[in-house]
Parts: sequence; structure tokens; C-alpha cells
Amino acid sequence: LIELRDVNKHYGQLHVLQDINLTVGRGEVVVVIGPSGSGKSTLCRTMNRLETIESGTITIDGEPLPEEGKGLAALRADVGMVFQSFNLFAHRTVLANVSLAPVKVRGRKREEADRRSRLLLDRVGLASQADKYPAQLSGGQQQRVAIARALAMEPKVMLFDEPTSALDPEMINEVLEVMQQLARDGMTMVVVTHEMGFARSAANRVVFMADGRIVEDRSPEDFFTHPESERAKDFLSKIL
Ligand code: ATP
Ligand code: MG
Repeated sequence: LIELRDVNKHYGQLHVLQDINLTVGRGEVVVVIGPSGSGKSTLCRTMNRLETIESGTITIDGEPLPEEGKGLAALRADVGMVFQSFNLFAHRTVLANVSLAPVKVRGRKREEADRRSRLLLDRVGLASQADKYPAQLSGGQQQRVAIARALAMEPKVMLFDEPTSALDPEMINEVLEVMQQLARDGMTMVVVTHEMGFARSAANRVVFMADGRIVEDRSPEDFFTHPESERAKDFLSKIL
């Protein structure tokens, strides 16, 4: 579904993505891990063209990423993204946060969008919070609204960049459980996370990045029990 071929990117002198080759199949869950600064967020952001690349190709469903204009809006609709910070619209209700883009971008009728949004809020366990404002919710609840909002666009793939890093420990699991359920429902997902429990239980593959390169790309079972590279061994020894 997503294919990156020989992708390269610099920030000035920094070669932040080096010859990245990555394929994510339909329904696959790929967890990306690696030390701070290794390029994980940049990799995610190239996949919905929040970042440009200098060489290589990225295709989604066989189509190269659009350069600009209409194609870009369509791409952003197909590739849902959830960040560490929830970025909800503070002055709109939870329901309006979820319904807004389907109405504006997908051209749905308001009533229909609201009806579907309530179903999505139910799916993330927030049916009863639809009429509240983001500030009235906990961090974990806000992040679940952000997930529902991304799902409202009916994306082909969901990118998550450290979705639980800003949360208090007791709220991490409620977000991971929503993500687990999404994975079980067959959503194609790329997830940058430090939650190794999630990687073990939900990932089809673990991609380990260091210094802008993909150093390992293997099953979680293989990766956690027999990391091959020194970089991965060193990383795992620090976090496990
Ligand atoms: P973390 O685990 O801390 O989130 P990361 O693996 O997501 O790290 P990136 O955010 O992709 O890493 O950053 C990779 C490198 O690129 C870092 O050295 C970072 O300082 C640098 N970088 C990121 N964004 C920019 C930018 N807009 N301009 C210049 N350098 C940048
Ligand atoms: Mg990052």
C-alpha cells in the first residue's frame, strides 16, 4: 500500500533520511523505533508530504505522492495522522472536531457527518463526551478524539507519531487499546512509539532506525529476541 524507494532527505548538512526502502502492505502494522533524532518523525511526515524529499519515490496504492494542489488535500485525507500533541480545535465541541473535515474536505452533509462521527466516538469510547470541549477532557480522551477525527476521513492508512508520549501513564493504555482495536480491524498503520508492549503485541514488523537509516526491519519476535545490529542491541538494553 505504501512504498518508499531509495528515499533521501537532508536538513542542511544533516542527512536525515538515507536510502530509505520500506514497504507497508494493506492491513499491516509497522512499528518504527529508534533513538531520538534518528529520523522517525521525518519519515512519517514524508509519507503525507508534510516534508519533501530530494530523491527516491514514495507511492501510495501505486500512485506517486502528489506535488501540490488538489492532489495534496486528497492525499492528506487518505493518510490520517495522529501526533504527540493532539492539535484539536479548542473552540469546537468534540463532535464538531470530528465532523469538520468530512464536511469541508469530503463534502458530506452535516447531519450525515455528525451521525458517522458519533459512531466513531463510540468506537473510541467517547460517545458520552460528544458535546464537550477539548479542554474539558483528559489527555487520553483528547488523543482518542484526535484518532476519531483522523478516522472520520476514512483514510487508507494511519500514521501515529508517538501518540502516547505526552500522556500521563494511567492514560496511555486507553489510547493503546484503541490502536490495538484499529489494528485488529485491519487498518494499515505506521506507528512511531516507545511502547514496546504495543510493538510486541500489535506489530507485524518492527523497523529500527538509527542515524537516518533503517537498520533492521523484521518481525517483533525476531527483533526483540535476536537484534542483529549493535545499534539495536544497545538501544534495547537501554529501554527494556
Ligand atoms: P525523536 O525520537 O526525538 O522524536 P526522531 O527520530 O523523530 O526523534 P526527527 O524529528 O525525524 O527524529 O529528526 C531527525 C533529525 O533531523 C534530528 O537531528 C533533528 O534535529 C533534525 N530535524 C528535524 N526537523 C528539522 C527541521 N525542520 N530543520 C532542521 N533539522 C531538523
Ligand atoms: Mg520524533
